[in-house]
Amino acid sequence: MQKRIVLLGSTGSIGTQTLEVVLNLRESHSVEIIGMSAHSNVELLRKQADEFGLPQERICLSSKEPDKLLELAALPNCIVVNAIVGSAGLESTLAALKAGNTVALANKESLVAGGERVMQIARDNNAKLIPVDSEHSAIWQCIGENRHKDIAKIILTASGGPFFGYSKEQLKTVTKEQTLNHPNWSMGAKISVDSATLMNKGLELIEAMYLFGLPEDKIDVVIHPQSIIHSAVEFVDGSVIAQMSVPDMRLPIQYALTYPERLPSPLTQNEHKKLSLTELGSLTFAKPDYKVFSCLALAREAARHGGDAPRRLNQANEEAVELFLKSKINFCEIAEYITESIKS
Ligand code: NAD
Ligand code: MG
Repeated sequence: MQKRIVLLGSTGSIGTQTLEVVLNLRESHSVEIIGMSAHSNVELLRKQADEFGLPQERICLSSKEPDKLLELAALPNCIVVNAIVGSAGLESTLAALKAGNTVALANKESLVAGGERVMQIARDNNAKLIPVDSEHSAIWQCIGENRHKDIAKIILTASGGPFFGYSKEQLKTVTKEQTLNHPNWSMGAKISVDSATLMNKGLELIEAMYLFGLPEDKIDVVIHPQSIIHSAVEFVDGSVIAQMSVPDMRLPIQYALTYPERLPSPLTQNEHKKLSLTELGSLTFAKPDYKVFSCLALAREAARHGGDAPRRLNQANEEAVELFLKSKINFCEIAEYITESIKS
């Protein structure tokens, strides 16, 4: 059966990679785009709409048409890929779930800002939430048909970002350019900054807590600079199941769209792109430094606290990242800004 996809945030990093995945799946006739939105890049949105044969009523420029964004999210019987950045994506997630749609969720801020509410509305409407974030896709795949009570803990992997191994002193002089230059992934500006501060891992910790119904102390963060193991799950018998692949977001995006099927992907069409353990030789792991990367500590605290704390943390982080991107504050001031703003 052909799946109908509504893609919110089509012009971004996840959005454009989703379109690549859909083009690649076209031959299998398994997916079709029926709606898309972008916030400001109207030219690219029009071009994408032309390419995928969408009429005007199925595209939305969300900066001008917020109501239409929610209407698209609520179109009947579809998978809504939420690739919007920031807590601005929360309302779309809720609208999609209320309509009983499956949400393929890249927008982690939805769960950080509205965790319990999002999960409750999904349950009430019998709507599925499929993770697109690579770590959460990995965890979801590792859990598979295992029983929830058999999970001992989640091992959430992190690349460590561009400043892995830096001291507090060294972080004081890093530039915006260095911050936006991630070693393993090419992503939007906001998540690139979050990856450098490790707030991204903090947000993912909270995302995992709600998605998989586990307390904060059952989610470990492990630095794994090669980004080959996308996360792992330890079970009560001591067995650990991990999911591996080369780092490529098109894989978790595709699996969210084709689930429960697996189909050939952009990785399988190119022998060089597939994972070769012998070429890799070794994988390494380290503990994160919560003192140097204090954003991760702040997120853990908010996760432990629960209630409104994750939403407030996320709000403060969005403000701080925006100030950093506008060169109003420096890298170390991001954590300071968040600390101050969640205090008040
Ligand atoms: P991006 O900045 O490249 O793209 C964001 C998209 O959202 C654009 O299409 C933009 O038009 C739209 N948008 C921006 N502000 C909006 C608003 N206020 N309302 C509605 N739409 C808006 O971001 P990205 O890197 O593609 O990330 C998108 C989401 O996916 C984020 O939540 C991010 O954390 C998550 N994610 C991204 C990656 C990645 O590799 N890029 C990996 C995992 C998770
Ligand atoms: Mg991730």
